[in-house]
Amino acid sequence: MSVETLQFQAETKRLLDLVVNSIYTNKEIFLRELISNASDAIDKIHFESLTNREILDGEEEFEIFVLPDAATKTITISDNGLGMSRSEVINNIGTIAQSGTKAFLEKIREGGGKVDEEFIGQFGVGFYSAFIVAEKVELITRRAGETAAVKWTSDGAGEYTLEDCEKDSRGTMIVLHLKPEFCGGEDYDFTSPYAIENLIKKYSDYIRYPIRMNFTSTDDEGKETVEIRTVNSMQPLWTRNKSDVKQEEYDEFFKHQFHEWEAPLEIFHTKAEGTTEYTALLCIPKHAAVNLYYSDYEAGLQLYSRHVFIMNKCKDFLPDYLRFIKGLVDSPDLPLNISRELLQQSREVRKIGKALEKNILKQLAKILKNERERYETFWREYGKAIKIGVANNAYDEKGKDDLKDLLMFTSSKEEKLCTLAEYVERMPESQSKIYCASGKDTATISQMPQMEILRERGVEVLYLLDPVDEFAIEALQKYADKEFQSITREDFALDDAESQKTKTEVEELSKSHGDLLKDVKDALSGAVSEVRLTPNLKSGAVCLATGAAGPSLTMEKTFAAMNNPMFRAQRILELNPNHALFGKLSGLHALGNDTPEFKNFCQLLYVQALLIEGIMPDNPIEVANQIASLMSK
Ligand code: ADP
Repeated sequence: MSVETLQFQAETKRLLDLVVNSIYTNKEIFLRELISNASDAIDKIHFESLTNREILDGEEEFEIFVLPDAATKTITISDNGLGMSRSEVINNIGTIAQSGTKAFLEKIREGGGKVDEEFIGQFGVGFYSAFIVAEKVELITRRAGETAAVKWTSDGAGEYTLEDCEKDSRGTMIVLHLKPEFCGGEDYDFTSPYAIENLIKKYSDYIRYPIRMNFTSTDDEGKETVEIRTVNSMQPLWTRNKSDVKQEEYDEFFKHQFHEWEAPLEIFHTKAEGTTEYTALLCIPKHAAVNLYYSDYEAGLQLYSRHVFIMNKCKDFLPDYLRFIKGLVDSPDLPLNISRELLQQSREVRKIGKALEKNILKQLAKILKNERERYETFWREYGKAIKIGVANNAYDEKGKDDLKDLLMFTSSKEEKLCTLAEYVERMPESQSKIYCASGKDTATISQMPQMEILRERGVEVLYLLDPVDEFAIEALQKYADKEFQSITREDFALDDAESQKTKTEVEELSKSHGDLLKDVKDALSGAVSEVRLTPNLKSGAVCLATGAAGPSLTMEKTFAAMNNPMFRAQRILELNPNHALFGKLSGLHALGNDTPEFKNFCQLLYVQALLIEGIMPDNPIEVANQIASLMSK
């Protein structure tokens, strides 16, 4: 029989190095990882057998067998699942395909190669965890329906061998040759059936197939009898009563089943009876996935029917904005052989999905009401998702309505998060609108020249710090009958008596300076749609406003980033009539509207307004030269 020696894929080798160099504090996890793989493999054949009974070839009872052996210093985990072909072994065991494992490596990379023990201890790395306790691992597997078996052997040091071999029945058998410290040692003895039994009860009790072991007893005459016992209760966690499940059990379950490395932030366990029957066990992971908002993120829930696994990542239950929810739905009302296409059209799926969404939103509202700090933690991780939900529901009144009270924004008042209800509650009687301002961070917004007057009058402003915020606000338009008003739109004006008076005065002044304003606009040759005087500036000389409707400057940037450069904001240059620069501008204008001095002056005013908005002028070198010549005068 030929023996082939192969190399691990580079990434796999790195992972193995980490595992083998015993960064794991919890040495026990290898067992639940291998048992879970065995259970997955049985799930696969079980599911296939529902439509193709022959694949079982008479061996219809599924089981996982765990055999610790002190004499050979081994522990063997066998299953009669689907097994693997030779090429599957190469692809599955020699390479890292699993997203959980990939995410694990990502995290390590992010941390600059440093690993936090606690984090590692909580994370499962699947099959490779065998090398935490074993100095050599053998995997013998035969795929259902095939006669050839293959044996994979490795000491976890970069290479593995493959050879053809014999195996009586389908499935996979993994033999771990234990490192000496795990055989009869003080801390660990993985050759002891009782120690292993405890581990199975602790980590793998809910596995849906029997996990069996041999237990040997010796009677008074020294005669040995071997008894085979099923160790796990086999009850899927989600079928148990909520009150009977301990928090740690839920936490373990999510970590394990959904490749989470931390206990979830929130768990939803619901059972519904009636016309549509289902059980759902969902969670909000503590941290948002790094790629949550990117197209390569795969959202969706696991789907079971009568506890039989049907599919992973079923997207049809929850709306896209709830993509951060992980978990499973088990419903007897769904046929076992349902296809993805049929699922999409299924009324049951839609009904279950609606109910789940409602439940999640209700729970979030409850947390907001009763546990503010926890809600703010949620909001920092997932607020963007909820805002995307509002923006996506622009034409769905009910959809928006359900979400609007979950929204939070940083407010100019102490720069803390606040809800729209809180903002409106604090509004003085005289204020009719909800003011908001966009910028990349709180410091930038608070320094905007338009903010000065608002601060002086004690008017609260909501900071729109994420590009999606403006889209959400635009979709909402109003909250509690109060319109949103951006302080950088041309129609912004405070509505107290003093502001109204200044506004009228400035309008008068604009009329008498009509020629000047027109000439400034001409000097900017088409860069702005209008030049006007504003009552909204105090010490600032200029600012940029955008049209009352249409894209804002932030939206323009977002569209440009999405390769839609034709969505341009209408730019309006606003001048402060009380600023010294305005006096100087008028003076220059009096000497002629066509002089280079006047034109340069107008240019530089506009450039200032652009810079305040964080926009680079089109001609930075020319601008620099203009400034240089001005400074040397
Ligand atoms: P994960 O289980 O997270 O996918 P693993 O490294 O544990 O990652 O396993 C990699 C792959 O190897 C599995 O996805 C599966 O295809 C295959 N595999 C592992 N153990 C078994 C087994 N007992 N039977 C059949 N296939 C297995």
